[in-house]
Amino acid sequence: MTLNQFLFSEIIKPGTVLFLINFFGLTPVFGNVSLRDSLPQPIPIGTSIPASKITIEKMKELKEAGIKYIQVTVNEWFDQEGSFKKAYDTIKEELLQAKIAAQKGGIVVEGIHMPFGRFIDLSLTDEASRKNVISLHKKVLELCQVLKPGIILFHPSWFLNPGNREAHINQLIRSVTELEKTVSNMGAVITIENMTGPEPYLTRNGVTYERPLCSTNEEMLQVLNLLPSNVYAAVDMNHILLPDRLILALGKRLKAIHIADGDGVRELHYYPCSGKGKNNWTSILDALYKVKYAGPFMFECKYNDPKDLFVCYQYLYQKFIIEKYIQPEYQ
Ligand SMILES: [Zn+2]
Repeated sequence: MTLNQFLFSEIIKPGTVLFLINFFGLTPVFGNVSLRDSLPQPIPIGTSIPASKITIEKMKELKEAGIKYIQVTVNEWFDQEGSFKKAYDTIKEELLQAKIAAQKGGIVVEGIHMPFGRFIDLSLTDEASRKNVISLHKKVLELCQVLKPGIILFHPSWFLNPGNREAHINQLIRSVTELEKTVSNMGAVITIENMTGPEPYLTRNGVTYERPLCSTNEEMLQVLNLLPSNVYAAVDMNHILLPDRLILALGKRLKAIHIADGDGVRELHYYPCSGKGKNNWTSILDALYKVKYAGPFMFECKYNDPKDLFVCYQYLYQKFIIEKYIQPEYQ
């Protein structure tokens, strides 16, 4: 039995969901019955993908799987110390090919997930190091311009040296304010992603680190309030427990999402229909509609087949419609 068959035969009983159809134009699952106009409409889906994987074959495969958007990750361009591994012109040529592949495959580049790491941290307190990070990001933005991204997504920081949180926040504000001009000149908007929390400290290999910035709802809002109003937020559903609360708290400031399941503490990036993880997807979808989130349902999770992403979105959406709109009418 395929996953598709399993989800639709075991989890959603076809006979109970007559209104649910092939609203994406793929093979009908429940027959040709229209979704009621008054219900929240499904949103397009996307997936994150490393720049080097954007080939025409891959783009066609995604398109056929019902995926419309990609968010491009570029960490692969950098070594452990945060230096470019490839020549600028080599990357430039690769991105030109990626742009052609996306266009030919009918896939839209939603945005760029900017590089991050210990040495690629916008909040570094050493000013010379921070300036190097800014010039690295400016190079990445210059390279990525060819893809015409709408969203430029940054992590607010890496793990912090304990006791310097306020200094890191100040450096982040300085960096984002500076990069915002470059990003708006390329016709895109900056989003800052929430990080894992909420415990303040974590020990790795015997070394204690302070959690990255924006690892609680309060700090995410605090940081955004210190930034220009044209800087937006991204919510990663596997970085926090009850992400719906953060979505609602951010309201119109939410411009990007990362879809994965987890425990809110570690980077687990579970496939949301794996049965693993703690997220309540009906609450998350409800929150996204409440704040009028207008972007794609951007998966950033482990998966085997891109069609599984489409199946999973359909399942989560249909479950949401049933639980929030259909079942209450029959109570
Ligand atoms: Zn993420």
